[in-house]
Amino acid sequence: MKVVRTRGECAQARAELGLGTTVGFVPTMGYLHEGHLSLVRRAKTECAAAVASIFVNPTQFGPTEDLSTYPRDLDGDLAVLEEAGCDVAWLPEVADIYPPGFSTFVDVEGVTTVLEGARRPGHFRGVATVVAILLNVVRPTRAYFGQKDAQQTVVLRRMIEDLALGVDMVVAPTVREPDGLAMSSRNSYLDPAQRAAAVVLHRALQATRTAYAGGERDADRLRTAMTEVIAGEPLAEPDYVSVADPRDLTELTVVDPAVGALTSLAVRIGRTRLIDNELLF
Ligand code: AMP
Repeated sequence: MKVVRTRGECAQARAELGLGTTVGFVPTMGYLHEGHLSLVRRAKTECAAAVASIFVNPTQFGPTEDLSTYPRDLDGDLAVLEEAGCDVAWLPEVADIYPPGFSTFVDVEGVTTVLEGARRPGHFRGVATVVAILLNVVRPTRAYFGQKDAQQTVVLRRMIEDLALGVDMVVAPTVREPDGLAMSSRNSYLDPAQRAAAVVLHRALQATRTAYAGGERDADRLRTAMTEVIAGEPLAEPDYVSVADPRDLTELTVVDPAVGALTSLAVRIGRTRLIDNELLF
């Protein structure tokens, strides 16, 4: 596995893979777990070469968020990337991505105003901007993202299409711990009691899925099914619960089974904010 740092080194490594080579790209913020590695393995299976980036992107963090404490383990990350079959690991510095004078940002409108976008102003502007830069340097055939960050996939699909970035987007299923908690680098913030409580996100989604499977189509009643489960966990403080149109993320009143629904939620457990989601169809 080749390890590169600057934009120029990454572009060079990409050229060395060969312009006709299919390349699968997995952008990450590191502290890698099975969720990330499932994307790398899939990229390697479906493409001739896999490229992964590790970059804790400052522009997607709000001023009171966890940029300075975000977990990092570069040595461990490189070892597991190599094991997963990654060909190129790109580890840029902040100044490689945002050099002095940097002043161009990508703003995806509409789908960024709800859910995570409403609670984290500027978050998706940072995400879209960094992903646009990463895609332009790596020039992958396919880019791999996790369903775990459902709104991110909707925002980036829009950007890739609107800006004609010419990349196929692949969305892979959420990888979970044995008890159902979605894997996340931020799970490392949880103490044992909080870790046990964190399974409430998955349990809330399951309650909604069960209600839906039982024929419930009223979106408010589906939201209530989530809220009630969260209320039963004293360490959990709900931020939002949502039953939305999976295409444009507008909140639904009734779920049309022909369209389905994205059920999603954000919950605070102590100072840690966790998100999860499930598609109902
Ligand atoms: P992050 O490092 O959190 O920015 O995540 C990098 C990529 O991995 C994003 O596309 C995430 O959606 C994806 N990802 C994170 N957690 C999981 C998970 N538990 N299962 C599948 N994909 C994930």
